[in-house]
Amino acid sequence: MKRREFIKQAGAAGSLLVAPAIAMAGKTIRWKMVTTWPKNFPGLGTGANKLAALIGEMSGGRMKVKVYGAKELVPAFEVFDAVSRGTAEMGHGAAYYWKGKSEAAQFFAAVPFGLNAQEMNGWLYHGGGMALWTKLYERFNLVPAAAGNTGVQMGGWFNKEIKSLADLRGLKMRIPGLGGEVLKRAGGTPVSLPGSELYTSLQSGNIDATEWVGPYNDLAFGLYKVAKYYYYPGWHEPGTTLEALINKQAFEALPADLQSIVLNACKVVNQDMLAEYTARNNAALHTLVTRHKVKLRAFPEDVLKKLKSLSDEVVAEVAVKDADSRAVYASFRKFRDEVRAWHNVSELAYFRARG
Ligand code: CA
Repeated sequence: MKRREFIKQAGAAGSLLVAPAIAMAGKTIRWKMVTTWPKNFPGLGTGANKLAALIGEMSGGRMKVKVYGAKELVPAFEVFDAVSRGTAEMGHGAAYYWKGKSEAAQFFAAVPFGLNAQEMNGWLYHGGGMALWTKLYERFNLVPAAAGNTGVQMGGWFNKEIKSLADLRGLKMRIPGLGGEVLKRAGGTPVSLPGSELYTSLQSGNIDATEWVGPYNDLAFGLYKVAKYYYYPGWHEPGTTLEALINKQAFEALPADLQSIVLNACKVVNQDMLAEYTARNNAALHTLVTRHKVKLRAFPEDVLKKLKSLSDEVVAEVAVKDADSRAVYASFRKFRDEVRAWHNVSELAYFRARG
């Protein structure tokens, strides 16, 4: 009793001392975060929520970030512009949605047959990637940060079997970024649609096939109800980085400690989301196959080989489109080639040994 009283009093005294200091430092900083995801969507939307909550917690309440789902404040594909012009101070999405702004942006989300999650993080944080990304987005009045990773995605949902590359011909498929360009070269029609429209588009026949993320998210959207075959691997998205976009003026107006808190909260979510996907994907895959009787199929080796060769063509062409793409690709490719040598004798060798 005595001890509790003492702590209570000490706490009260402490807050008396601290409270005026906080009041003097100014009002709570309130930010809006617009996202390309449906509100509270597992993994992606909840990852954005977690990021906002962490910034609040780590700043001791000096910053509060309110999260908006797609269409609540702006539509999914207007997140980039909204943050750039300051309608919202922050955004959460994926860089390949902005290839209309800059082709080079795609390298910071996913490259077909490119880097996996572990390698993306290696390149971004310790291989020069982050500096290039920061430089690229500066032109758009934005500060970027990696803020999530899905791990290797799934190849997608189809209503027919893919036995050869010819089966992709004439196929209208939702597949974003460079993967979409590869599909086009294989004779298909890539479509870019926000996640919330996939189910109805597939059901209505507006599209023939779609990829989304992986078992955890695809189960949540109920895609198994509108397509029979579930293909792997996600050759087009081997470890997609999600991004946080921050309005440059809003970021620069923060004191140094809050800037550090915002960027480090992104780093925490970047790692945490990957851990969440790793844990949830395997459980969801089990549910899809056992409860919903999804037909799980591997792309034939020959199809993957051809897709890889088309991917190499597409990526090489993007890489010479402009100075940004040239610089980013040079760095990306150098890292990929070097890390491949290392991962062949570490991760790959281990997976093979474990079976
Ligand atoms: Ca995807």
